Amino acid sequence: MAKNKVYALIIQGLVQGVGFRPFIYRIAKDLGMKGCVENMNNGVRILVAATPDDRDLLISRIRTEHPRVAYIHRISYTSTEMDEDDFDDFTITPSHSESDEVTQVSPDIAVCADCMRDRTTQPHRIGYPFINCTHCGPRFSIIRDLPYDRSQTTMGGFLMCPDCEKEYTNVIDRRFHAQPVACNHCGPTYYATYNEETYIDYETLLKLTSRLLLGGEVIAAKGIGGYHLICDASNERAVARLREIKQRDTKPFAVMFRDLEHLQVYTATEPMEERCLVSWRRPIVLLRQRSRLASGINPGMHTLGCMLSYMPIHYDWFARTEEPDNEKKIFCSSIDCCNGYRCTFWLRSVENTEDGYRIRDRDSGGGIRRRNRI
Ligand SMILES: [Zn+2]
Ligand SMILES: [Zn+2]
Repeated sequence: MAKNKVYALIIQGLVQGVGFRPFIYRIAKDLGMKGCVENMNNGVRILVAATPDDRDLLISRIRTEHPRVAYIHRISYTSTEMDEDDFDDFTITPSHSESDEVTQVSPDIAVCADCMRDRTTQPHRIGYPFINCTHCGPRFSIIRDLPYDRSQTTMGGFLMCPDCEKEYTNVIDRRFHAQPVACNHCGPTYYATYNEETYIDYETLLKLTSRLLLGGEVIAAKGIGGYHLICDASNERAVARLREIKQRDTKPFAVMFRDLEHLQVYTATEPMEERCLVSWRRPIVLLRQRSRLASGINPGMHTLGCMLSYMPIHYDWFARTEEPDNEKKIFCSSIDCCNGYRCTFWLRSVENTEDGYRIRDRDSGGGIRRRNRI
């Protein structure tokens, strides 16, 4: 029987950090093909031994079945001088750079429903706030360089525990080749400083910060990228304090709701806006306001910038600040980039100073600093 030709396929678009290589691996195995897939600077390259018909079938399946976050701009192919016998199987090979052209980098992706469920069922991830998988989690914010591999992200310094390693290397696992994979045993953790005390236990942190939020305080919390200054959006005094800290007189603040249902109590939404709000990007959507929150949020305006929770800690805050009479909280949020997105601490007490405010930084190094880098 004649040997198959080996084709080199280059896929360009948003194809790194979105579970693309595991996806290709599964399809190629499904089609019984030999070859390999790798991340390149300019996209993803597949080397595959196939008949022209099978090659076209592979391309068509890539186009129709790709991960939801991925976006394919172009698929091109050439035949190579390689031989089918150069491959024993289909594999994911380590990445390498071969071009100055740079592919698109995946944005950060809101935590997925499967991960939220895993936080309640997987022993090594019970309550873990940095849970992620190939469908969700930080991407852009942790990338130091391309191609996208763990060693080129801020997760490079975190050695996977045996449980995570098992998932990372198991092709049928949702965390197969999920670069930021982590758990309670091996991943980054939050910590907070407040009144000169440092808190590192997550449950204690949640209690502390929930108490501060309910008490009308403004807290500075590390998001996936930069800092968010957060306060209770129904508390006039808290919102006024946020304005004072930001030295922002009237520019509106965005607010975060626990879920769509609660958001619709305060705003009128169209189906398109709803789809946007719940999408993996979790954007801030400008909506027509129906009932008032604290007047200081958007003085004189009839629209409200709204978003839904996108990190596990947001869900945890909402769960812990729910009032006994079942009143759900809404948080007012303002992004603050004063320290850049690779800051290594998460919560600091905020103090007013003559020139605005400062976030008190108590320590400037040590082991705890590295543990919080994500
Ligand atoms: Zn996930
Ligand atoms: Zn682990």
